[in-house]
Amino acid sequence: HTKNNGRNGYNFFQRSMNTIAQSQLQLVNDLWLALERAELRLFYQPKYTAPSGPIVGLEALLRWQHPQRGLLPPDIFLPLAEKSGLIIHVGNWVINEACRQLRCWHQQGHENWSVAVNLSALQFEQSSLVDTVVTALEKHQIPPRLLTLEVTETTAMRNPDESVRILTALTALGVRASIDDFGTGYSSLLYLKRLPASELKIDRAFVNELSENSGDATIVSAIVALAKSLNLKVVAEGVETPQQQNFLTSLGCNSLQGYLLGKPIPPERIDELQEFISTDARQTVA
Ligand code: C2E
Ligand code: MG
Ligand code: MG
Ligand code: MG
Repeated sequence: HTKNNGRNGYNFFQRSMNTIAQSQLQLVNDLWLALERAELRLFYQPKYTAPSGPIVGLEALLRWQHPQRGLLPPDIFLPLAEKSGLIIHVGNWVINEACRQLRCWHQQGHENWSVAVNLSALQFEQSSLVDTVVTALEKHQIPPRLLTLEVTETTAMRNPDESVRILTALTALGVRASIDDFGTGYSSLLYLKRLPASELKIDRAFVNELSENSGDATIVSAIVALAKSLNLKVVAEGVETPQQQNFLTSLGCNSLQGYLLGKPIPPERIDELQEFISTDARQTVA
């Protein structure tokens, strides 16, 4: 009996592994095609000076307009893109596309807007990254200071000496670095001090449950104090309520991002967003 069950268990395992492998292989394959067929798109989420404006920049967030499955968020395909190495091509496309879009906005008169691009761990560690960034900046004639590169705290602390070296090379170009999802990783404060970043983004998890009497308020205060002492700006992500907006502002966050102020939207709807911002800002002030 035991032997039989074991065999059946093994067969089942084998079959489900094959199915997973197959569907993943299919997804990687489809993602290659998606690049060729221009099915990838960037949405943009505004980042505001606290509490309600003006816009300081927009973060590019990747989407896949899948012909059968509709609009796919990055969680669905980025982990696999990272595992297969395809993220390098996808990431190059993102950097270029974000610079192209920023150039368009500049030509439309939004000359102070900056754009932020998320980097994956693998992409961050590629020696070709500096070249990719330089090429994109030159091609689209973007002043380097208007491009921000976001790396997560976890990525930055994976190999801290390397990260200092990479970020030093990148920021030497004049671009800015931002440490994303801060508070969820394990930072060495010694390395944090050495990283040439200009911004910390407080992870959404701490903003989520924020209220005057939650422990998260203490954590946010501590992160703000740490950032200030290291001369870094603080951005809070995932701001969904006016209470969070006011509280984060009073705790000293420099900028805010979240569904309350603006969801990620396709670039062609950016004018709509601006109208929304001005009415929203008036409501907030009033
Ligand atoms: P992230 O960089 O931390 O981006 C913030 C995520 O939170 C985005 O999810 C955004 O849509 C979402 N968000 C923003 N405001 C709110 C809010 O108020 N409430 C809630 N519940 N969510 C909010 P998204 O677009 O699904 O992206 C998820 C993650 O995927 C990003 O986290 C980033 O790590 C990664 N990602 C996105 N685009 C790229 C890319 O082009 N390259 C790389 N390597 N990673 C990317
Ligand atoms: Mg980000
Ligand atoms: Mg984040
Ligand atoms: Mg994140």
